[in-house]
Amino acid sequence: ECQPELPFVSAFDPNSLTLPAASNFINGVRVAGVGAEIPVRRPSDGQVYAQLDSAGQTQVDAAVQGAHDAYRNSGWAKADPRQRMRVLRRWADLLDAHVAELAALEAVGSTRTIAEATAWDIPYSAECIRFYAEFADKVGGEVAATTPDKLGLTITEPYGVVAAVAPWNLPIVMAVWKVAPAVAAGNSVVLKPSEMTPFSIVRVAELAIEAGLPPGIFNIIQGDGRSVGDTLCRHQLVAKVTFTGSTRTGAAIMTACAETGPKPVTLELGGKSPQLVFADCSDMEKTAAIVARAITLNAGQVCVAGSRLIVQESVARQVVDLIATRFRALNPAPTWDPAGTLSPIISHPQLDRIHGIVGRTVAAGATLVTGGGRAAGPQDGSFFQPTILAGVDANAEAVREEIFGPVLTVQTFREEEEALALANDTQFGLAAGVHTGDVGRALRAVRGLEAGTVWVNRYGRSNDFMLPTGGFKRSGIGKDLGREAYMANLKVKTALVEF
Ligand code: NAD
Repeated sequence: ECQPELPFVSAFDPNSLTLPAASNFINGVRVAGVGAEIPVRRPSDGQVYAQLDSAGQTQVDAAVQGAHDAYRNSGWAKADPRQRMRVLRRWADLLDAHVAELAALEAVGSTRTIAEATAWDIPYSAECIRFYAEFADKVGGEVAATTPDKLGLTITEPYGVVAAVAPWNLPIVMAVWKVAPAVAAGNSVVLKPSEMTPFSIVRVAELAIEAGLPPGIFNIIQGDGRSVGDTLCRHQLVAKVTFTGSTRTGAAIMTACAETGPKPVTLELGGKSPQLVFADCSDMEKTAAIVARAITLNAGQVCVAGSRLIVQESVARQVVDLIATRFRALNPAPTWDPAGTLSPIISHPQLDRIHGIVGRTVAAGATLVTGGGRAAGPQDGSFFQPTILAGVDANAEAVREEIFGPVLTVQTFREEEEALALANDTQFGLAAGVHTGDVGRALRAVRGLEAGTVWVNRYGRSNDFMLPTGGFKRSGIGKDLGREAYMANLKVKTALVEF
Protein backbone atom coordinates (compact mmCIF):
# COMPACT_ATOMS: atom_id res chain seq x y z
CA GLU A 1 0.00 0.00 0.00
CA CYS A 2 2.88 2.33 0.70
CA GLN A 3 4.51 1.68 -2.67
CA PRO A 4 1.55 0.71 -4.83
CA GLU A 5 2.13 -0.90 -8.17
CA LEU A 6 1.51 1.82 -10.68
CA PRO A 7 -0.27 0.82 -13.85
CA PHE A 8 1.17 1.13 -17.30
CA VAL A 9 -0.09 4.35 -18.81
CA SER A 10 1.26 5.96 -21.91
CA ALA A 11 2.37 9.55 -22.19
CA PHE A 12 -0.14 11.88 -23.77
CA ASP A 13 -0.22 15.36 -25.15
CA PRO A 14 -1.54 17.77 -22.51
CA ASN A 15 -2.47 20.24 -25.23
CA SER A 16 -4.98 17.79 -26.61
CA LEU A 17 -7.42 18.50 -23.77
CA THR A 18 -10.33 20.72 -24.65
CA LEU A 19 -12.08 22.44 -21.80
CA PRO A 20 -15.49 24.01 -22.27
CA ALA A 21 -15.37 27.66 -21.23
CA ALA A 22 -18.46 27.38 -19.04
CA SER A 23 -17.57 25.41 -15.96
CA ASN A 24 -20.08 26.38 -13.35
CA PHE A 25 -22.51 23.48 -13.08
CA ILE A 26 -26.03 24.40 -12.04
CA ASN A 27 -29.17 22.27 -12.25
CA GLY A 28 -27.36 19.66 -14.31
CA VAL A 29 -25.86 21.88 -17.00
CA ARG A 30 -22.67 23.86 -17.51
CA VAL A 31 -23.28 27.58 -17.28
CA ALA A 32 -21.11 30.61 -17.86
CA GLY A 33 -20.06 32.92 -15.07
CA VAL A 34 -19.84 36.67 -15.00
CA GLY A 35 -17.01 36.79 -17.52
CA ALA A 36 -14.41 37.61 -14.85
CA GLU A 37 -11.70 35.32 -16.11
CA ILE A 38 -9.12 33.72 -13.83
CA PRO A 39 -6.07 32.24 -15.60
CA VAL A 40 -5.54 28.59 -14.66
CA ARG A 41 -2.00 27.21 -14.90
CA ARG A 42 -0.62 23.73 -15.32
CA PRO A 43 1.72 23.26 -12.34
CA SER A 44 4.02 21.01 -14.39
CA ASP A 45 5.12 23.69 -16.85
CA GLY A 46 3.52 26.91 -15.60
CA GLN A 47 1.46 27.36 -18.79
CA VAL A 48 -1.91 29.04 -18.64
CA TYR A 49 -4.03 26.30 -20.21
CA ALA A 50 -7.50 27.70 -19.59
CA GLN A 51 -9.41 30.69 -18.31
CA LEU A 52 -11.90 30.11 -15.53
CA ASP A 53 -15.15 32.00 -15.95
CA SER A 54 -15.85 32.89 -12.34
CA ALA A 55 -19.31 32.84 -10.80
CA GLY A 56 -20.76 36.01 -9.33
CA GLN A 57 -23.62 36.63 -6.96
CA THR A 58 -26.13 35.67 -9.69
CA GLN A 59 -24.60 32.21 -10.23
CA VAL A 60 -24.17 31.57 -6.50
CA ASP A 61 -27.83 32.45 -5.97
CA ALA A 62 -28.90 30.25 -8.90
CA ALA A 63 -26.86 27.30 -7.65
CA VAL A 64 -28.09 27.52 -4.06
CA GLN A 65 -31.69 28.15 -5.11
CA GLY A 66 -31.46 25.23 -7.56
CA ALA A 67 -30.08 23.00 -4.81
CA HIS A 68 -32.83 24.11 -2.45
CA ASP A 69 -35.56 23.47 -5.02
CA ALA A 70 -34.12 20.07 -5.94
CA TYR A 71 -33.94 19.14 -2.27
CA ARG A 72 -37.59 20.08 -1.80
CA ASN A 73 -39.05 18.88 -5.08
CA SER A 74 -36.90 16.27 -6.83
CA GLY A 75 -37.81 13.45 -4.49
CA TRP A 76 -34.13 12.72 -3.83
CA ALA A 77 -34.44 13.18 -0.08
CA LYS A 78 -37.84 11.56 0.26
CA ALA A 79 -37.61 8.65 -2.19
CA ASP A 80 -36.95 5.10 -1.07
CA PRO A 81 -33.32 5.31 0.11
CA ARG A 82 -32.55 2.30 -2.05
CA GLN A 83 -33.11 4.55 -5.04
CA ARG A 84 -30.29 6.81 -3.83
CA MET A 85 -28.16 3.72 -3.35
CA ARG A 86 -28.72 2.56 -6.93
CA VAL A 87 -27.92 5.97 -8.43
CA LEU A 88 -24.72 6.30 -6.42
CA ARG A 89 -23.60 2.82 -7.46
CA ARG A 90 -24.18 3.70 -11.12
CA TRP A 91 -22.25 6.93 -10.62
CA ALA A 92 -19.30 5.01 -9.16
CA ASP A 93 -19.38 2.59 -12.11
CA LEU A 94 -19.28 5.54 -14.51
CA LEU A 95 -16.17 6.90 -12.78
CA ASP A 96 -14.50 3.54 -13.29
CA ALA A 97 -15.60 3.45 -16.92
CA HIS A 98 -14.09 6.93 -17.50
CA VAL A 99 -10.88 6.42 -15.57
CA ALA A 100 -8.56 7.36 -18.45
CA GLU A 101 -10.41 10.59 -19.26
CA LEU A 102 -10.77 11.66 -15.62
CA ALA A 103 -7.17 10.80 -14.74
CA ALA A 104 -5.93 12.84 -17.70
CA LEU A 105 -8.03 15.85 -16.68
CA GLU A 106 -6.76 15.55 -13.12
CA ALA A 107 -3.11 15.08 -14.09
CA VAL A 108 -2.91 17.98 -16.52
CA GLY A 109 -4.51 20.51 -14.22
CA SER A 110 -3.10 19.54 -10.83
CA THR A 111 -0.08 18.06 -9.08
CA ARG A 112 -1.35 14.49 -9.37
CA THR A 113 0.73 12.27 -11.65
CA ILE A 114 -1.07 10.40 -14.42
CA ALA A 115 0.09 7.08 -12.95
CA GLU A 116 -1.28 7.84 -9.49
CA ALA A 117 -4.48 9.44 -10.74
CA THR A 118 -5.14 6.33 -12.84
CA ALA A 119 -4.22 3.82 -10.14
CA TRP A 120 -5.61 5.62 -7.16
CA ASP A 121 -7.52 8.93 -7.32
CA ILE A 122 -10.26 7.81 -9.69
CA PRO A 123 -10.85 4.18 -8.58
CA TYR A 124 -10.58 5.29 -4.95
CA SER A 125 -13.19 8.02 -5.50
CA ALA A 126 -15.50 5.46 -7.11
CA GLU A 127 -15.07 3.16 -4.10
CA CYS A 128 -15.80 6.05 -1.73
CA ILE A 129 -19.09 6.73 -3.55
CA ARG A 130 -19.95 3.01 -3.35
CA PHE A 131 -19.17 3.01 0.36
CA TYR A 132 -21.66 5.83 1.04
CA ALA A 133 -24.23 4.29 -1.33
CA GLU A 134 -24.48 1.46 1.19
CA PHE A 135 -25.31 3.85 4.00
CA ALA A 136 -28.36 5.27 2.25
CA ASP A 137 -30.70 2.47 3.31
CA LYS A 138 -28.86 1.08 6.31
CA VAL A 139 -28.02 3.86 8.72
CA GLY A 140 -30.62 6.02 10.38
CA GLY A 141 -32.30 6.65 13.70
CA GLU A 142 -32.73 4.45 16.73
CA VAL A 143 -35.40 3.32 19.14
CA ALA A 144 -34.56 4.60 22.61
CA ALA A 145 -36.03 5.34 26.06
CA THR A 146 -38.90 2.94 25.49
CA THR A 147 -41.23 1.64 28.23
CA PRO A 148 -44.46 -0.42 27.85
CA ASP A 149 -46.52 2.75 27.41
CA LYS A 150 -43.93 4.93 25.76
CA LEU A 151 -41.95 4.77 22.52
CA GLY A 152 -38.87 6.92 22.02
CA LEU A 153 -37.34 7.38 18.59
CA THR A 154 -34.55 9.29 16.99
CA ILE A 155 -35.18 10.12 13.34
CA THR A 156 -32.43 11.34 11.00
CA GLU A 157 -33.19 14.04 8.43
CA PRO A 158 -30.92 15.71 5.87
CA TYR A 159 -29.98 19.35 6.39
CA GLY A 160 -31.09 20.49 2.93
CA VAL A 161 -28.42 22.48 1.08
CA VAL A 162 -24.86 21.63 2.12
CA ALA A 163 -22.07 23.94 0.90
CA ALA A 164 -18.71 22.24 0.34
CA VAL A 165 -15.45 24.13 -0.17
CA ALA A 166 -12.50 22.07 -1.41
CA PRO A 167 -8.70 22.50 -1.75
CA TRP A 168 -6.44 21.91 -4.77
CA ASN A 169 -4.17 19.15 -3.51
CA LEU A 170 -6.33 16.13 -4.46
CA PRO A 171 -9.11 17.86 -6.36
CA ILE A 172 -11.45 14.97 -7.14
CA VAL A 173 -10.80 12.90 -4.02
CA MET A 174 -11.27 15.82 -1.60
CA ALA A 175 -14.54 16.83 -3.30
CA VAL A 176 -15.87 13.25 -3.30
CA TRP A 177 -15.15 12.93 0.44
CA LYS A 178 -17.65 15.77 0.93
CA VAL A 179 -20.21 15.16 -1.78
CA ALA A 180 -20.69 11.37 -1.47
CA PRO A 181 -21.89 11.25 2.17
CA ALA A 182 -23.92 14.44 1.78
CA VAL A 183 -25.98 13.24 -1.19
CA ALA A 184 -26.22 9.65 0.10
CA ALA A 185 -27.87 11.11 3.20
CA GLY A 186 -30.40 12.98 1.02
CA ASN A 187 -28.92 16.50 0.96
CA SER A 188 -28.21 18.61 -2.09
CA VAL A 189 -24.73 20.12 -2.47
CA VAL A 190 -23.15 23.26 -3.86
CA LEU A 191 -19.41 22.70 -4.21
CA LYS A 192 -16.76 25.34 -4.72
CA PRO A 193 -13.54 23.72 -5.94
CA SER A 194 -10.21 25.49 -5.67
CA GLU A 195 -9.78 28.13 -8.36
CA MET A 196 -6.40 26.50 -9.13
CA THR A 197 -7.92 23.07 -9.96
CA PRO A 198 -11.48 23.77 -11.05
CA PHE A 199 -12.17 21.54 -14.07
CA SER A 200 -11.91 17.81 -13.35
CA ILE A 201 -14.74 17.67 -10.80
CA VAL A 202 -17.19 19.19 -13.33
CA ARG A 203 -16.82 16.07 -15.46
CA VAL A 204 -17.43 13.95 -12.35
CA ALA A 205 -20.65 15.92 -11.73
CA GLU A 206 -21.79 15.36 -15.32
CA LEU A 207 -21.37 11.64 -14.77
CA ALA A 208 -23.60 11.89 -11.71
CA ILE A 209 -26.39 13.28 -13.89
CA GLU A 210 -25.80 10.48 -16.40
CA ALA A 211 -26.16 8.01 -13.52
CA GLY A 212 -29.57 9.43 -12.65
CA LEU A 213 -28.86 12.03 -9.96
CA PRO A 214 -31.63 14.60 -10.26
CA PRO A 215 -30.40 17.94 -11.66
CA GLY A 216 -29.78 20.39 -8.83
CA ILE A 217 -28.64 17.82 -6.26
CA PHE A 218 -24.95 18.38 -7.07
CA ASN A 219 -24.00 21.87 -8.26
CA ILE A 220 -20.62 23.52 -8.72
CA ILE A 221 -19.73 27.18 -8.61
CA GLN A 222 -16.29 28.43 -9.60
CA GLY A 223 -14.17 31.29 -8.43
CA ASP A 224 -11.87 32.51 -5.72
CA GLY A 225 -12.39 31.89 -2.05
CA ARG A 226 -12.71 35.34 -0.60
CA SER A 227 -15.53 36.43 -2.88
CA VAL A 228 -17.30 33.37 -4.30
CA GLY A 229 -16.49 30.97 -1.44
CA ASP A 230 -17.47 33.47 1.20
CA THR A 231 -20.71 34.40 -0.60
CA LEU A 232 -21.64 30.72 -0.77
CA CYS A 233 -20.95 30.05 2.93
CA ARG A 234 -22.98 33.11 3.95
CA HIS A 235 -26.01 32.26 1.79
CA GLN A 236 -29.22 32.10 3.82
CA LEU A 237 -30.40 28.89 2.14
CA VAL A 238 -27.17 27.05 3.01
CA ALA A 239 -27.86 24.91 6.08
CA LYS A 240 -24.42 23.40 6.69
CA VAL A 241 -20.86 24.01 5.51
CA THR A 242 -18.11 21.45 5.07
CA PHE A 243 -14.60 22.67 4.32
CA THR A 244 -11.15 21.25 3.63
CA GLY A 245 -8.22 23.63 3.43
CA SER A 246 -5.90 25.72 5.51
CA THR A 247 -6.44 26.52 9.18
CA ARG A 248 -6.61 30.23 8.42
CA THR A 249 -9.38 29.83 5.83
CA GLY A 250 -11.20 27.42 8.15
CA ALA A 251 -11.36 30.13 10.80
CA ALA A 252 -12.71 32.65 8.24
CA ILE A 253 -15.39 30.17 7.16
CA MET A 254 -16.37 29.48 10.75
CA THR A 255 -16.78 33.24 11.28
CA ALA A 256 -18.96 33.49 8.15
CA CYS A 257 -21.08 30.58 9.41
CA ALA A 258 -21.38 32.14 12.86
CA GLU A 259 -22.42 35.51 11.46
CA THR A 260 -25.09 34.06 9.17
CA GLY A 261 -26.37 31.22 11.32
CA PRO A 262 -24.86 29.90 13.37
CA LYS A 263 -24.55 27.06 10.88
CA PRO A 264 -22.86 23.76 11.66
CA VAL A 265 -19.38 23.38 10.14
CA THR A 266 -17.02 20.54 9.45
CA LEU A 267 -13.43 21.73 9.12
CA GLU A 268 -10.56 19.58 7.82
CA LEU A 269 -7.51 21.78 8.21
CA GLY A 270 -3.73 21.81 8.13
CA GLY A 271 -1.21 19.57 9.82
CA LYS A 272 2.41 19.15 10.88
CA SER A 273 2.38 15.44 11.44
CA PRO A 274 5.23 13.62 13.19
CA GLN A 275 6.72 10.24 12.28
CA LEU A 276 8.35 8.55 15.25
CA VAL A 277 11.05 5.97 14.51
CA PHE A 278 12.33 3.77 17.34
CA ALA A 279 15.58 1.80 17.18
CA ASP A 280 13.70 -1.46 17.68
CA CYS A 281 12.16 -1.48 14.17
CA SER A 282 12.83 -4.87 12.62
CA ASP A 283 13.36 -3.66 9.05
CA MET A 284 14.88 -0.19 8.85
CA GLU A 285 14.91 -0.16 5.03
CA LYS A 286 11.16 -0.65 5.01
CA THR A 287 10.63 1.97 7.71
CA ALA A 288 12.74 4.49 5.79
CA ALA A 289 10.74 3.79 2.64
CA ILE A 290 7.48 4.49 4.49
CA VAL A 291 8.84 7.68 6.08
CA ALA A 292 10.19 8.95 2.75
CA ARG A 293 6.95 8.31 0.89
CA ALA A 294 4.87 9.95 3.62
CA ILE A 295 6.53 13.32 2.91
CA THR A 296 7.12 13.04 -0.84
CA LEU A 297 3.75 11.71 -2.02
CA ASN A 298 2.23 14.52 -4.11
CA ALA A 299 5.46 16.43 -3.25
CA GLY A 300 4.36 16.72 0.37
CA GLN A 301 1.13 18.48 -0.63
CA VAL A 302 -1.04 16.21 1.46
CA CYS A 303 -2.78 17.35 4.63
CA VAL A 304 -1.40 14.38 6.59
CA ALA A 305 2.13 14.65 5.15
CA GLY A 306 4.56 13.21 7.71
CA SER A 307 6.74 16.29 7.87
CA ARG A 308 8.56 15.87 11.20
CA LEU A 309 10.86 12.86 11.62
CA ILE A 310 11.45 12.17 15.31
CA VAL A 311 14.05 9.44 15.42
CA GLN A 312 15.88 7.62 18.20
CA GLU A 313 19.43 8.95 18.42
CA SER A 314 21.17 5.58 18.04
CA VAL A 315 19.69 4.98 14.56
CA ALA A 316 19.29 8.57 13.40
CA ARG A 317 22.22 8.63 11.00
CA GLN A 318 21.27 5.29 9.42
CA VAL A 319 17.61 6.27 8.99
CA VAL A 320 18.38 9.72 7.58
CA ASP A 321 20.86 8.25 5.08
CA LEU A 322 18.30 5.71 3.89
CA ILE A 323 15.64 8.40 3.46
CA ALA A 324 18.05 10.73 1.65
CA THR A 325 18.89 7.98 -0.85
CA ARG A 326 15.19 7.55 -1.59
CA PHE A 327 14.68 11.30 -1.92
CA ARG A 328 17.47 11.61 -4.49
CA ALA A 329 16.00 8.78 -6.58
CA LEU A 330 12.72 10.62 -7.26
CA ASN A 331 12.21 11.85 -10.78
CA PRO A 332 10.63 15.28 -11.36
CA ALA A 333 8.68 15.15 -14.59
CA PRO A 334 5.45 16.65 -15.93
CA THR A 335 2.42 15.00 -14.40
CA TRP A 336 1.40 13.65 -17.80
CA ASP A 337 4.69 11.72 -18.12
CA PRO A 338 4.22 8.22 -16.65
CA ALA A 339 7.92 8.11 -15.70
CA GLY A 340 7.48 10.98 -13.23
CA THR A 341 7.71 10.10 -9.54
CA LEU A 342 7.95 13.60 -8.05
CA SER A 343 4.97 15.94 -8.42
CA PRO A 344 5.34 19.65 -9.07
CA ILE A 345 4.45 22.27 -6.48
CA ILE A 346 1.04 23.77 -7.21
CA SER A 347 2.25 27.29 -8.07
CA HIS A 348 5.27 29.58 -8.22
CA PRO A 349 4.24 31.62 -5.16
CA GLN A 350 3.99 28.38 -3.19
CA LEU A 351 7.39 27.26 -4.51
CA ASP A 352 8.89 30.57 -3.36
CA ARG A 353 7.27 30.19 0.03
CA ILE A 354 8.79 26.72 0.52
CA HIS A 355 12.18 28.00 -0.64
CA GLY A 356 11.90 30.87 1.85
CA ILE A 357 11.10 28.67 4.85
CA VAL A 358 13.94 26.25 4.01
CA GLY A 359 16.41 29.11 3.50
CA ARG A 360 15.52 30.84 6.77
CA THR A 361 15.66 27.57 8.73
CA VAL A 362 19.15 26.84 7.35
CA ALA A 363 20.25 30.41 8.09
CA ALA A 364 19.03 29.87 11.67
CA GLY A 365 21.39 26.89 12.07
CA ALA A 366 19.75 23.79 10.55
CA THR A 367 21.89 21.34 8.57
CA LEU A 368 20.81 20.74 4.99
CA VAL A 369 21.25 16.99 4.44
CA THR A 370 19.84 16.90 0.92
CA GLY A 371 17.76 19.07 -1.41
CA GLY A 372 17.08 22.67 -0.51
CA GLY A 373 16.32 24.18 -3.90
CA ARG A 374 14.36 23.93 -7.10
CA ALA A 375 14.49 20.55 -8.81
CA ALA A 376 15.31 20.31 -12.47
CA GLY A 377 12.10 19.80 -14.37
CA PRO A 378 10.36 21.34 -17.33
CA GLN A 379 11.09 25.01 -17.77
CA ASP A 380 8.72 27.12 -15.68
CA GLY A 381 7.49 24.05 -13.86
CA SER A 382 7.58 24.48 -10.12
CA PHE A 383 9.45 21.43 -8.81
CA PHE A 384 11.20 21.43 -5.43
CA GLN A 385 13.89 18.96 -4.40
CA PRO A 386 12.91 16.62 -1.59
CA THR A 387 14.71 18.18 1.35
CA ILE A 388 15.97 17.03 4.75
CA LEU A 389 16.71 19.58 7.48
CA ALA A 390 18.56 18.04 10.44
CA GLY A 391 19.73 19.61 13.69
CA VAL A 392 16.57 21.69 14.00
CA ASP A 393 15.25 22.78 17.35
CA ALA A 394 11.61 22.69 18.32
CA ASN A 395 11.13 26.38 17.54
CA ALA A 396 12.57 26.34 14.03
CA GLU A 397 10.22 27.80 11.43
CA ALA A 398 10.33 24.57 9.39
CA VAL A 399 9.26 22.58 12.46
CA ARG A 400 6.38 24.83 13.44
CA GLU A 401 4.81 25.90 10.13
CA GLU A 402 2.90 23.69 7.73
CA ILE A 403 5.12 23.85 4.62
CA PHE A 404 3.01 21.79 2.20
CA GLY A 405 6.08 20.67 0.27
CA PRO A 406 8.60 17.79 0.29
CA VAL A 407 10.51 19.02 3.34
CA LEU A 408 11.31 16.72 6.26
CA THR A 409 12.77 18.03 9.52
CA VAL A 410 14.73 15.70 11.80
CA GLN A 411 14.70 15.78 15.60
CA THR A 412 16.30 13.10 17.77
CA PHE A 413 15.42 11.62 21.16
CA ARG A 414 16.75 9.07 23.64
CA GLU A 415 13.67 8.01 25.63
CA GLU A 416 10.11 7.22 24.57
CA GLU A 417 8.64 9.96 26.72
CA GLU A 418 10.84 12.56 25.06
CA ALA A 419 9.65 11.37 21.62
CA LEU A 420 6.00 11.82 22.55
CA ALA A 421 6.68 15.26 24.02
CA LEU A 422 8.43 16.41 20.82
CA ALA A 423 5.62 14.94 18.69
CA ASN A 424 2.91 16.76 20.65
CA ASP A 425 4.75 20.09 20.71
CA THR A 426 2.69 21.57 17.87
CA GLN A 427 -0.50 23.53 17.38
CA PHE A 428 -1.70 20.89 14.90
CA GLY A 429 -3.09 17.41 15.57
CA LEU A 430 -4.02 15.81 12.28
CA ALA A 431 -2.03 12.56 12.07
CA ALA A 432 1.06 10.76 13.33
CA GLY A 433 3.12 7.69 12.48
CA VAL A 434 4.88 5.36 14.89
CA HIS A 435 7.47 2.82 13.79
CA THR A 436 8.46 0.23 16.37
CA GLY A 437 8.75 -3.52 16.88
CA ASP A 438 7.33 -3.28 20.41
CA VAL A 439 3.54 -3.64 20.66
CA GLY A 440 3.33 -2.05 24.11
CA ARG A 441 5.28 0.98 22.92
CA ALA A 442 3.06 1.26 19.85
CA LEU A 443 -0.09 1.24 21.96
CA ARG A 444 1.33 3.76 24.45
CA ALA A 445 2.06 6.03 21.48
CA VAL A 446 -1.45 5.55 20.07
CA ARG A 447 -2.82 6.72 23.42
CA GLY A 448 -0.24 9.43 24.01
CA LEU A 449 -0.17 11.18 20.64
CA GLU A 450 -2.45 14.19 20.23
CA ALA A 451 -3.60 13.42 16.70
CA GLY A 452 -6.84 12.43 15.00
CA THR A 453 -5.16 9.47 13.27
CA VAL A 454 -2.18 7.40 14.42
CA TRP A 455 -0.63 4.90 12.00
CA VAL A 456 1.60 2.16 13.34
CA ASN A 457 4.29 0.66 11.08
CA ARG A 458 2.63 2.25 8.05
CA TYR A 459 1.61 5.73 6.97
CA GLY A 460 -1.40 6.93 5.04
CA ARG A 461 -4.77 5.62 4.04
CA SER A 462 -5.78 2.78 1.80
CA ASN A 463 -9.38 1.81 1.03
CA ASP A 464 -10.31 1.95 4.73
CA PHE A 465 -13.42 4.09 4.32
CA MET A 466 -14.91 2.94 7.61
CA LEU A 467 -12.15 4.81 9.47
CA PRO A 468 -12.89 8.52 9.78
CA THR A 469 -10.24 11.18 9.26
CA GLY A 470 -10.04 14.54 10.96
CA GLY A 471 -7.87 16.61 13.20
CA PHE A 472 -7.44 17.48 16.84
CA LYS A 473 -6.25 20.88 18.05
CA ARG A 474 -5.95 23.44 15.23
CA SER A 475 -6.30 20.74 12.56
CA GLY A 476 -10.05 20.82 12.51
CA ILE A 477 -13.51 20.07 13.77
CA GLY A 478 -15.44 16.93 12.85
CA LYS A 479 -14.55 14.10 10.49
CA ASP A 480 -14.56 13.13 6.85
CA LEU A 481 -15.13 9.46 5.95
CA GLY A 482 -16.53 6.72 8.14
CA ARG A 483 -19.96 6.61 9.68
CA GLU A 484 -19.11 9.96 11.27
CA ALA A 485 -19.14 11.86 7.97
CA TYR A 486 -22.48 10.33 7.03
CA MET A 487 -24.03 11.24 10.38
CA ALA A 488 -22.58 14.76 10.14
CA ASN A 489 -24.85 15.29 7.13
CA LEU A 490 -27.98 14.50 9.11
CA LYS A 491 -29.95 16.26 11.81
CA VAL A 492 -31.30 14.10 14.59
CA LYS A 493 -34.93 14.59 15.55
CA THR A 494 -36.30 13.09 18.74
CA ALA A 495 -39.86 11.79 19.08
CA LEU A 496 -41.43 10.51 22.28
CA VAL A 497 -44.83 8.91 21.92
CA GLU A 498 -47.08 8.00 24.82
CA PHE A 499 -49.89 5.50 24.28
P1 NAD B 1 -7.05 27.25 1.21
O1 NAD B 1 -7.53 27.36 2.60
O2 NAD B 1 -6.21 28.33 0.66
O3 NAD B 1 -8.26 27.10 0.19
C1 NAD B 1 -9.19 26.03 0.29
C2 NAD B 1 -10.47 26.44 -0.40
O4 NAD B 1 -11.08 27.50 0.32
C3 NAD B 1 -10.31 26.94 -1.83
O5 NAD B 1 -11.39 26.46 -2.61
C4 NAD B 1 -10.39 28.44 -1.66
O6 NAD B 1 -10.82 29.10 -2.82
C5 NAD B 1 -11.42 28.56 -0.55
N1 NAD B 1 -11.39 29.80 0.23
C6 NAD B 1 -10.34 30.61 0.50
N2 NAD B 1 -10.72 31.63 1.30
C7 NAD B 1 -12.05 31.48 1.54
C8 NAD B 1 -13.01 32.20 2.29
N3 NAD B 1 -12.68 33.30 2.97
N4 NAD B 1 -14.28 31.76 2.31
C9 NAD B 1 -14.63 30.63 1.65
N5 NAD B 1 -13.76 29.90 0.92
C10 NAD B 1 -12.48 30.31 0.86
O7 NAD B 1 -6.30 25.85 1.14
P2 NAD B 1 -5.52 25.23 -0.10
O8 NAD B 1 -4.23 25.97 -0.25
O9 NAD B 1 -6.42 25.09 -1.27
O10 NAD B 1 -5.23 23.74 0.44
C11 NAD B 1 -4.14 23.42 1.22
C12 NAD B 1 -4.54 23.32 2.68
O11 NAD B 1 -5.58 22.36 2.82
C13 NAD B 1 -3.43 22.84 3.59
O12 NAD B 1 -3.42 23.61 4.76
C14 NAD B 1 -3.83 21.39 3.88
O13 NAD B 1 -3.32 20.87 5.10
C15 NAD B 1 -5.30 21.48 3.91
N6 NAD B 1 -5.90 20.16 3.69
C16 NAD B 1 -6.49 19.52 4.77
C17 NAD B 1 -7.05 18.25 4.59
C18 NAD B 1 -7.68 17.50 5.74
O14 NAD B 1 -8.38 16.51 5.50
N7 NAD B 1 -7.50 17.94 6.97
C19 NAD B 1 -7.03 17.65 3.33
C20 NAD B 1 -6.43 18.34 2.26
C21 NAD B 1 -5.87 19.60 2.46
